Amino acid sequence: MAESLFISDLHLCEERPATVALFETFMRQRAPRAGTLYMLGDIFEAWVGDDDRSAVNLTVEQHIAEVATKGVQVFFMVGNRDFLLGGAFAERTGCEILTDPSVVDVCGTDTLLVHGDSLCTDDRAHQTYRAQAYSSEWKRAMLAKPLEERLAIARQYRQASMAGNQLKSDSIMDVNQDTVVQVMRERKVHRLIHGHTHRPAVHDFEIDGQPAQRIVLAQWENQGSVLCWDHDGYHLETVRA
Ligand code: MN
Repeated sequence: MAESLFISDLHLCEERPATVALFETFMRQRAPRAGTLYMLGDIFEAWVGDDDRSAVNLTVEQHIAEVATKGVQVFFMVGNRDFLLGGAFAERTGCEILTDPSVVDVCGTDTLLVHGDSLCTDDRAHQTYRAQAYSSEWKRAMLAKPLEERLAIARQYRQASMAGNQLKSDSIMDVNQDTVVQVMRERKVHRLIHGHTHRPAVHDFEIDGQPAQRIVLAQWENQGSVLCWDHDGYHLETVRA
């Protein structure tokens, strides 16, 4: 089956049992019917390393492994919350880590996939943090710390991030359209799918006179949202409890 599903921004954690349950429903009932499942980042609220064997992490891993065993190709692109996720996770679940950015063939159209935070270039503070934290040196140093220390750092970071985001204006937290056009031109695509901003929408515009499209995935809270693509085009599905 050639159908591709796209999800992002579930922010799964122990404090959100309802969202974890929605994910379990989706993985049991819907995902096995697809050909490919793309998870485009911030699936977890925080990921401090593949050695963090929390109950939620184990549940998610088990569901991905089951879906992969059923023959669904699962791709996992990390987001700014779960960018420390790595090879051990991929090995345990049978998913493939997808680089941000990646161009993939979705039903015959080259499609650019990113988590989305790289497009928010008006948020200078995040871009500075991102340039540092995504470096292999920073990640190595972070992962060398004891698990308890990493969990404490993640808690502090989330509190600081929440406080910081309250001070940022709405437009700073969204993508920069010039950056969008620039990366789409560089990658020679006219379709882009991403999450991160929690502003689900389909944006139609033009690049050099050609129609272009940017699809923003929805975050999961009280219900889940899935972008489904097959040879008839795309549609959105809702996952309900
Ligand atoms: Mn994000």
